[in-house]
Amino acid sequence: MRKYTGKGVYGAIAIGRVSLFEKQDAAVKRIHITDTDNEKKRFEEAKMSAIKQLQEVYDKALKEVGEANAAIFEIHQMMLDDDDYNDSVKNIIDSQNVNAEYAVAVTSDNFAAMFSAMDDEYMKARAADVRDISNRLINNLSGNVSAETDSEEKLIICADDLAPSETVSLDKEKVLAFVTAQGSSNSHTAILARNMNIPAVIGVGAEFLTEIKGGEEVIVDGFTGEIFVNPDKENLEKYRQKQAEDEEKKRLLQELKGKDNVTLDGKKINIYANIGNLDNIGAVLMNDAGGIGLFRSEFIYLENSDYPTEDQQFSIYKKVLESMAGKKVVIRTLDIGADKQVDYFNLKKEANPALGYRAIRICLTRTDIFKTQLRALYRASVFGNLGIMFPMITSVSEVKKILEICNEVKSELKSEGMEFAKNVELGIMIETPAAAIISDKLAQMVDFFSVGTNDLTQYTLACDRQNPDIEQFVDTHHEAILRLIEMSAENAHRHGAWIGICGELAADTTLTETFLRMGIDELSVSPAFVLKVRNAVRMIDLSK
Ligand code: PEP
Ligand code: MG
Repeated sequence: MRKYTGKGVYGAIAIGRVSLFEKQDAAVKRIHITDTDNEKKRFEEAKMSAIKQLQEVYDKALKEVGEANAAIFEIHQMMLDDDDYNDSVKNIIDSQNVNAEYAVAVTSDNFAAMFSAMDDEYMKARAADVRDISNRLINNLSGNVSAETDSEEKLIICADDLAPSETVSLDKEKVLAFVTAQGSSNSHTAILARNMNIPAVIGVGAEFLTEIKGGEEVIVDGFTGEIFVNPDKENLEKYRQKQAEDEEKKRLLQELKGKDNVTLDGKKINIYANIGNLDNIGAVLMNDAGGIGLFRSEFIYLENSDYPTEDQQFSIYKKVLESMAGKKVVIRTLDIGADKQVDYFNLKKEANPALGYRAIRICLTRTDIFKTQLRALYRASVFGNLGIMFPMITSVSEVKKILEICNEVKSELKSEGMEFAKNVELGIMIETPAAAIISDKLAQMVDFFSVGTNDLTQYTLACDRQNPDIEQFVDTHHEAILRLIEMSAENAHRHGAWIGICGELAADTTLTETFLRMGIDELSVSPAFVLKVRNAVRMIDLSK
């Protein structure tokens, strides 16, 4: 049994097998091995699985595209059994003391080069087939989830780091937990893990990734950040028990469904949920959130291969609003840039992307993109109770410009005879110190504030939220941050605006009472935390 420790970002236990997440352009690593017999055994097992998978693909293709087209998968099976190919892989393992993945990759390169050099066109084309079967073997060896495996088993995804775009493209039905060598608690990958209710441990360190192998059994403790690889019987039993207890606790919280978010002395607060896409709505409803306090609309852009059209966005916003049946839905306009990169935006590389061209700065300079989104939002507004929220605000002039553009969009829709609701609330995120400091002015321009503590912490403490090496300096309860929130709350209320918190700090129940005393009106948290925060609110007595 091997043990590693990182940082738990979603408290739950997972027990399962490892799938190594390979970046698309990642080269196979060459790892020095002492037990070469075991590597050859792993190769044989991966080959048997590949032959079985190819038989399934062959059967499916036979039905769908006929025998002639299916034949290639029979050829692939034969190639996997080819003596020269097998001898090459095993000789490389034995002679170089290397891992099976590496031996397969080298064999693949050599054989593909040999086929490519042949005169015969048919033989030349076999180079692609060698690469294909080799990739299948490497995927099987590293435990990668392949599109064709149809494995029902949920796996523990282990990666160096996961970009938000990579996280959203994973097949969630097959993910039991995440473990990443790098990463920080407020990275969007951590946030996505929380939104998806899956145990996640980040920042486990580089050696974890060099030592872990696809298919190994692992316990992930998302509470303590501990990882046990190939656990012994005793630990397996202990953690199965811990898992059962956690599930029981979560089941007990379910009894708070339908109850008010009210303190012992009668103060009520709204508890809403944060979501990234339509798939999260089920969790919002199941956990009895009173609304959606943050829909990170940029995930629509991240999940798309080109700019999402007005109609495409309209139908998503309409669905969210309809699903929430009149409850408040706050949709945040596009917040890309920094760690959330979308290829087709062709954004320039920046030395300090968190301080660069991101979020509202993109929207205010590429107004075609902004207006398309606003048109879709206003058109959808008739299907529910919509609030539109703008990220990364730093100045009065930005908000003025935004309000002008919103008015332009509404006039255009009106002249086209398109309907939109008259009571759409407009709000801004308070996630820069500048916005908090001038919140007296900003509060007069909008209906609501929502405090983005993830960025507010990053910018106030000058601590890059993506950098795990400085986490010891990130005091999320820092007095400066709490004072900025309090100041924003006072200014909001003085000018008739409401104020919520939608950053990760909203779910920190050690601060719930502090937030209530500041007069915060709404806390928006990952769906899985709604009932935990409700529980905390119901135990507070503000009269004391
Ligand atoms: C925040 O910054 O706190 C926030 C909610 O926005 P995001 O995490 O998406 O940057
Ligand atoms: Mg933010």
